[in-house]
Amino acid sequence: MVAETKIGPKKLFIGGKWQDAASGKVFPTINPATEEVITEVAEADERDVDLAVRAARKAFEEGPWSAMSGADRGKLLRKIADAVVKYGDEIAYLETIDTGKPISETRHHDASRVADLFEYYAGWCDKIQGETIPVRGNFLNYTLREPLGVVGAISPWNFPLSLAAGKVAPALAAGNTVVLKPSEQTPLTALRIAEIAQEVGLPDGVFNVVTGPGSTTGRALVLHPGVDKISFTGGTKTGQQIMRDAAATLKPVTLELGGKSPNIVFADADLEAAARHAFWAIFYSKGEVCCAGSRLFVEDSVHDRLMDKLVERTKRLVPGDPLDPKTRLGPLSSESQLKKVSRYVELGIAEGGKLVAGGQRYRTGNGKGYFFHPTIFDEVDNRMKIAQEEIFGPVLATIRFKDLNEVIGKSNDTPYGLAAAVWTHDIKKAHLAAKMLKAGTVWINTYNALDVSSPFGGYKMSGFGRELGMHALEHYTQVKSVWVNLGE
Ligand code: NAD
Repeated sequence: MVAETKIGPKKLFIGGKWQDAASGKVFPTINPATEEVITEVAEADERDVDLAVRAARKAFEEGPWSAMSGADRGKLLRKIADAVVKYGDEIAYLETIDTGKPISETRHHDASRVADLFEYYAGWCDKIQGETIPVRGNFLNYTLREPLGVVGAISPWNFPLSLAAGKVAPALAAGNTVVLKPSEQTPLTALRIAEIAQEVGLPDGVFNVVTGPGSTTGRALVLHPGVDKISFTGGTKTGQQIMRDAAATLKPVTLELGGKSPNIVFADADLEAAARHAFWAIFYSKGEVCCAGSRLFVEDSVHDRLMDKLVERTKRLVPGDPLDPKTRLGPLSSESQLKKVSRYVELGIAEGGKLVAGGQRYRTGNGKGYFFHPTIFDEVDNRMKIAQEEIFGPVLATIRFKDLNEVIGKSNDTPYGLAAAVWTHDIKKAHLAAKMLKAGTVWINTYNALDVSSPFGGYKMSGFGRELGMHALEHYTQVKSVWVNLGE
């Protein structure tokens, strides 16, 4: 059941209040399935960002947030989790109309993940602690693990709320305050979570949302001297720009960036399971997934059998209305994504890839929506651009290989290192491959397994720092060493 939601114009959420942008400017957010404007959203400039940072600073320095016990902070985060469960249908609906992700995904994965994140980090609030250290001399030495202060969180459009929550929940759990800048393409759920924060009684200024483009709103947040840390998820080029901008004020940054993840199928694998997972590894969420299995490596001797299974399955996957619970492939999330994906398919053909499924825009009855057929290239060479560059869409590049060393060498031969998967029954080969692959996550005989308690992040140009689990908390805290003279 989809909740009915009337969507009026959206304002900025600053210091517990909803307000227009200082400039009065707004921008539209568009439904990629219909190409219609959903609503208009306030466009923050540096004046609004400054107000939000000041509100967050005040809440951090003057309390009640900073004076609150971890246990009480945990209660508030748990209330957010409960409210996300309560409003799950509505959150999923907003996410679907803003991104084009099928409602079956936003309801069962995105909205549930957001609730899980707040629930999980609620549990950490009263467990973030220092240690005593047996130093030399007559001293007591202990550490305090303290929050950083004001965290600037910048999130992308592909998993708008769950990626934002992956920053907001641990940052708040550690006692920081937050200014969130969601993607200008998908701002609706970030604003909805601000309403929830208000409803459950999160103190004013602890959580703020500023909406607008990255080049102005996002940049103002990164450059602001009152922001103590930037947590960013998005493209690698943007990550580089953010690092350069953050250098001016020496802000620590964590960067979750792009990927070109290899999915390796050895000849002894369960081919049925490997084909099923290879399919979802690239077509889940339209392939607009940072850790999508976008390079499929198949051992020569099973290549034809695996490809038959995969292509057959792919031809049955027809894009459809993302609000229909039966739909498994929605439209790409924007017109620029449609253009980018189309460009890469043309390039793949020109480079000599063998197109065996899809390859063009999917036209609905009324011709609207940024739909694209699920696409597979076979006989790809790992040096081709479609094997090296992140397409960020439902386009798979398939590459043959002969042995372990060859496939690991090719798998590691991209600038990225976000995730990788290995399919084999040979336990030695599986663990050897896991060790040799340069990626922040390695799956063995599965794909896209994720949990709020297990760290996720990149090697190489896929970024640094880890989200999720206890590892994320390290990036939202700093350690103070305290020395007490016990007598000389
Ligand atoms: P993007 O880099 O264009 O934008 C991400 C966010 O950064 C948006 O909110 C945007 O407004 C903002 N931004 C843009 N320029 C900025 C600047 N100069 N200063 C501050 N903020 C700025 O990325 P996108 O197109 O929204 O997302 C797709 C990318 O995100 C893909 O490359 C994908 O792989 C990556 N991604 C990575 C992960 C991960 O966990 N590693 C997860 C999801 C997406």
